[in-house]
Amino acid sequence: MNSTQSPPQALDDILQKLYGFREFRPHQRGLVEGLLAGKDVFGVMPTGGGKSLCYQLPAHMLEGTAVVVSPLIALMKDQVDAANANGIKAAYLNSTLSHQEAAAVESAYRAGALDLLYLAPERLALPGFADTLRQNARKAPSFFAIDEAHCISEWGHDFRPDYLFLSRLRELFPNTPVGAFTATATEKVAEDIEKRLGLQSAVKVRASFDRTNLFYEVRAKKDWEIQLVEFIRKRPNQNGIIYRTSRKSVESTAELLKANGINAAAYHAGMEAEDRSRIQDAFIRDDINVMVATVAFGMGVDKADVRYVIHGDLPKNIESYYQETGRAGRDGEPSHCMLLYAPGDAVKVRRFIDDIADQAERQRSSDLLRAMERFASVPSCRRRSLLNYFNENYQEESCGGCDYCTGNFQRVDATRQAQMLLSAVARTGGKFGAIHICDIVCGANTAKIRQFEHNELKTYGVGKDRPKSYWRSLLDALMAEGKLQQSRDQFPVPQITQAGTEVMFGREKFHINEDTRVEPEKVNQRRSGQAVQIECHEGLFELLRVLRKEVADAASVPPYVVFSDRSLRSIAATMPESEEEMLQLHGIGQNKCEKYAETFLTAVATYLKQHPDAVNEKQALPSAPAPRKETIKRGPSATTLVTHALVKKGHSIEDIAQQRELAQSTIESHIAKLIETGEDIDVKTYVTDAQITLCQELFAEHGMDALAPVIEAAGDKLGYGEAKIIRAMMQKVG
Ligand code: ADP
Ligand code: ZN
Repeated sequence: MNSTQSPPQALDDILQKLYGFREFRPHQRGLVEGLLAGKDVFGVMPTGGGKSLCYQLPAHMLEGTAVVVSPLIALMKDQVDAANANGIKAAYLNSTLSHQEAAAVESAYRAGALDLLYLAPERLALPGFADTLRQNARKAPSFFAIDEAHCISEWGHDFRPDYLFLSRLRELFPNTPVGAFTATATEKVAEDIEKRLGLQSAVKVRASFDRTNLFYEVRAKKDWEIQLVEFIRKRPNQNGIIYRTSRKSVESTAELLKANGINAAAYHAGMEAEDRSRIQDAFIRDDINVMVATVAFGMGVDKADVRYVIHGDLPKNIESYYQETGRAGRDGEPSHCMLLYAPGDAVKVRRFIDDIADQAERQRSSDLLRAMERFASVPSCRRRSLLNYFNENYQEESCGGCDYCTGNFQRVDATRQAQMLLSAVARTGGKFGAIHICDIVCGANTAKIRQFEHNELKTYGVGKDRPKSYWRSLLDALMAEGKLQQSRDQFPVPQITQAGTEVMFGREKFHINEDTRVEPEKVNQRRSGQAVQIECHEGLFELLRVLRKEVADAASVPPYVVFSDRSLRSIAATMPESEEEMLQLHGIGQNKCEKYAETFLTAVATYLKQHPDAVNEKQALPSAPAPRKETIKRGPSATTLVTHALVKKGHSIEDIAQQRELAQSTIESHIAKLIETGEDIDVKTYVTDAQITLCQELFAEHGMDALAPVIEAAGDKLGYGEAKIIRAMMQKVG
């Protein structure tokens, strides 16, 4: 288009026409308008937040060509393909092009025929290249967009010396606006970026780092091979990444999956570069479903439709964990992040940390690892823990999108068990590590125990009836709540704090959130309440998926560049009959419609002819714009609705729990949720009038945020489930 500027109200139309999106994501509009107004902009947004649209759209609208600096050559082709698929004229210049190809791009640039030109930073630094950029038949660069801008900061996790040249852009192009974009959350890096790029009164935007479409889950790493294979088998044709720490474990895990008929491949830094890029390419093009990899994999992968990321080992810190899980669900569709955790894993990571020569750096890494361990071992809302780590205050009581919030945990009194651990620490003088303390309580027969005669202690073996993993996570919980703290020695060991003494002498109680999951696989069906996959005719969807792959292969682009999963599902759901109908679907702008509508419309029509019954599943086309995601009040999830159906048939809680193979506490949570959202449920079936009165009094006294104080005060008159139900009744909407 490249015509003159349009009024801001027309932006929505352009968004729809170009991308087939009905509305901007939070913050996108501000950045787009900033660039259109010729201002510097700075966007800090999580992966998948939609940064590229923020510079592509203005690039398309403004006179001249926008120059995008991007660090990863491997990504440029896909980014350019994706832009072109939407009818935005983009090209790239990098070392993978032949001399001729590069000359063609340069001449297109000079002729002013491009909206966007992608470059690696080192090209900008070539002598005379800045002058080349000035030779443009229209306006010389309309603006610069610096993608992955954190690469300019030495504080960031992937500093690139090449990026330092960008500090000179201001001086070389004093009148050209600069837009910086990053997904790195720390303030320190943000300040550094702004300073080094010399941004001036920039429009600054910092999006929430909450990835609402990701479901977070931590599972105990036992029988994990079975868990892994089952998890993947339940997701046929979905793409996923499995991270493992060592090359050896990468290879053995890939073998395990292949032996189980799963289309998987291994990827690690020890492989030949050629093999790595071949396998990466196959994954991007959906020829391989599951990538088993070390963390070396992912940086150069922009694949939008990764449906799950599994960590088979403990990541070294929360920031890495967030970045790595962030590779799931970039397209905004529901995706799953699972961490398999065994306390012993931390020991292995610690070995690497012990090798760090610099004392301060070693201490820092060790603290970061502790935080990661706590995240994995202490059950609480995973989303809140992650966001708190990035200094974001998460207000929701329940996120609805993690294993903790979907009701597999129950708060239980663990005072007696805590006392056992604390006493083992006290009786050994606060000189021994966590593993040894747990060994004492479990009554293990180790050389160290014999050496120090710890089998003579009163606490030796008092906790034999529970597995060691229980004691380990209880110890972590004591640590997380400040009853124990690590000594600051070279080999830190847990020591009792003042608060810990209170628990040890029984002056204070200690509660933990206990996992009440019966069958881990059941969790897989749950979904974050915020992103729901479109229900559609699966047979048709499968057919369209195969077609998408054919179309993509023919054009040498990844399948998600042709249509996103969501677009494809919308087609399978609404079974459009014309181009006009296609245009109403998510992610289908004019360009894609012109290119692909005919192929896909024909496929739908043929399918309907062969499967006349399928038409019964045809859904209405979307009409009004969908409500903004943030304003959606979370309603009951699918699993809650199943419970509702059984409640309506008159089944008791025990009954439903048994039938559905779920914990009773889970069913109670479902019922509470139903009551809260105003469903017609007779509370009296579950609680007595006396309980209601008592509960109301206690809530008035203790507040309604936490149930524990109320339960405690009620003695044996009230259970958790009952309190939950009464609270829901009191909070009922409408
Ligand atoms: P980032 O670069 O921030 O990681 P991308 O620019 O790759 O994110 O965008 C992530 C995904 O979100 C892409 O699939 C993109 O098409 C989609 N997307 C971006 N903006 C919107 C929007 N306004 N509405 C719907 N989807 C969007
Ligand atoms: Zn949660």
